[in-house]
Amino acid sequence: MATDILTMTYDEILSVVTDLGFPAFRAKQLYQWLNKGAQLSEMNNLPKAFKDALTENGYVVDLPKIEKKLVSQVDGTVKLLFSLSDGQYIESVVMKYEHGNTICVSCQAGCRMGCKFCASTLRGLSRNLTPSEIIGQIFMAQRSVGERISNIVMMGIGEPLDNYDNVIRFLRTVNREEGLNIGYRHISLSTCGLVDGIKKLEKEQLPITLSISLHNIDTEQRKTIMPITNKWSVEELLTACAEYFKATGRRISFEYTLIANENDSISQAEELAKGLKKFLRGMPIHVNLIPLNDVSERSFKKSSQKNVEAFKNRLNALGINATVRRRLGPDINASCGQLRLNAQEQ
Ligand code: SAH
Repeated sequence: MATDILTMTYDEILSVVTDLGFPAFRAKQLYQWLNKGAQLSEMNNLPKAFKDALTENGYVVDLPKIEKKLVSQVDGTVKLLFSLSDGQYIESVVMKYEHGNTICVSCQAGCRMGCKFCASTLRGLSRNLTPSEIIGQIFMAQRSVGERISNIVMMGIGEPLDNYDNVIRFLRTVNREEGLNIGYRHISLSTCGLVDGIKKLEKEQLPITLSISLHNIDTEQRKTIMPITNKWSVEELLTACAEYFKATGRRISFEYTLIANENDSISQAEELAKGLKKFLRGMPIHVNLIPLNDVSERSFKKSSQKNVEAFKNRLNALGINATVRRRLGPDINASCGQLRLNAQEQ
């Protein structure tokens, strides 16, 4: 069995190195390289005997491999398709903003949440990604675009709270000062609403931004597009959000994908405003409206521009801060899930 050392802590590396009979300063050197996302072959101040001992004992650095790179001619957005060591495919997207580069990473190969409008869940979940496979997307993307990545959104393939321990280890690793050094305030984690996960996350003391994919505030209606609602009602979800805010002081943002004739009526905007205000009294609320990206395998259609504007205006009029998310990389279909599907199919 191979043991991936990429996201090991210094103490873990030290015990690997001393167990193999090498001096502690080798652990320090190795740890420095790992924090740069280097492959074993690139670690040029480490003797061959040391690297051979690592390899022979099954210690590997397992970075994902870039299989395809698409660059938007419109806004410079970069979409990467990666293969993993067992032949799975995943995707990341790098978006260029004035405040720096943001990466959208995947945390699972596939997804088992079953949201009816989402491409990532079409073939179910293959497996969880390891912490190294998640952070590896960032190291490889930085090399590929040649610029530092300063912000992370966990909005790629997969449900972060369904791969809880690996995601937490990933978050703690990207935050290391001697590594990527990405501040928790520059990280957003998006969930379809795993209430047990939200409760656990609340205790981690990670000042990241939590983002909830809500898409409908009516429990019965939400069940028809997001099966997770059968497990936790919208009321339970919003109560957990209120508690999260009370405990952490971190505001939560809400994602709302607008689907024609499904969740985009004026009365649904009114119910949304009413419900958010009722459950989240005192919390600054922001709703991100996302016009649905068409997924060819799915029958849903995006809301008209007119309905999107009307929905937004109604929320704003009711005192809910709502903005429409600009679509990046329109020419490369930058939203996640589809490259993986195509690659997996071939
Ligand atoms: N599982 C997590 C993170 C991944 S999805 C979650 O559900 O939040 C990232 C966001 O994209 C979610 O808000 C999701 O609902 C949304 N999304 C999925 N498919 C979409 C589509 N076809 N068009 C627009 N947004 C979509």
